[in-house]
Amino acid sequence: MDVHSLLLAAPRGFCAGVDRAVLIVEKALEAYGAPVYVRHEIVHNKHVVETLRRKGAVFVEDETEVPEGAVIVFSAHGSPPEAFENSKALGHTLVDATCPLVTKVHQEARRYARDEMEIVMIGHAGHQEVIGTTGQAPDRIRLVETPDDVDALELEDPAKVTYITQTTLSMDETASVVQRLNERFPGLKQPKSDDICYATQNRQDAVKQLAERCDLVLVVGSQTSSNSKRLVEVSKDRSVPAYLIDDASEIDEAWFEEVGTVGLTSGASAPEVLVEQVIDWFKARGTQTVDTVMVVDEDVEFSMPSVLARKLQELSA
Ligand code: SF4
Repeated sequence: MDVHSLLLAAPRGFCAGVDRAVLIVEKALEAYGAPVYVRHEIVHNKHVVETLRRKGAVFVEDETEVPEGAVIVFSAHGSPPEAFENSKALGHTLVDATCPLVTKVHQEARRYARDEMEIVMIGHAGHQEVIGTTGQAPDRIRLVETPDDVDALELEDPAKVTYITQTTLSMDETASVVQRLNERFPGLKQPKSDDICYATQNRQDAVKQLAERCDLVLVVGSQTSSNSKRLVEVSKDRSVPAYLIDDASEIDEAWFEEVGTVGLTSGASAPEVLVEQVIDWFKARGTQTVDTVMVVDEDVEFSMPSVLARKLQELSA
């Protein structure tokens, strides 16, 4: 193997929403004690989920599986209103870890529905965030993934149509669908602000820069993480081979024949410790230079949900 240098993308890894969600589960365990139930994987990363499981988190697919009166955390991707209603009926102490940027899209969807608009959601069918968002106004939201889906849309009132997007897509991914929406529905109401999350865009921009300077790109992230998979595609779109790995154990030395510079990044749900292990893997095999390609300096932070903040305050009083 002749990889002489490693270029690290910045920013990479945990976004503010994931950071907050993981902290919420840890703090809920501290405040209420184990078990704390978590609806769905709190974030799409198996290492994060395993670490929290060892600390006493119990992951469930559905809130109705959780015993009456127990503590439950809802995941960062957002949940449909029925989940909140079910949980309330079961007397759960509910701590909502929905990312505030996803909550903003939920609010938009409900506002458009109140205004009796038809809402087109651009997103991936079956993704947790999409299930949570479409659940805000199921009779009014129509899901599309591609320009062809837009062609197939049949709307009751094409004069009153707007769109929202899954936060973890990129501008590049949504551009062709938005263009087709504008072509098909000339009266399309443009959203006040776009829904694409800063972290998704920044991580993709950083990979674009890596791809210009590297022979191959590694992305640390889980197969269930759509933003991590997208980082791989961004590199491949620029004809630079890229691989998604959960951790250093999945690296295959055969990838690096005639590769001198490797780019390294991680999805928004991948912890930094896994990136550090990959760096150590290369150093142990003779890679001497490790540099960072800084694209944007992120300083976004979200506060704790009030129910948990109050509980922690009571405990410390
Ligand atoms: S990727 Fe963006 S929208 Fe999703 S959890 Fe992170 S900050 Fe929130």
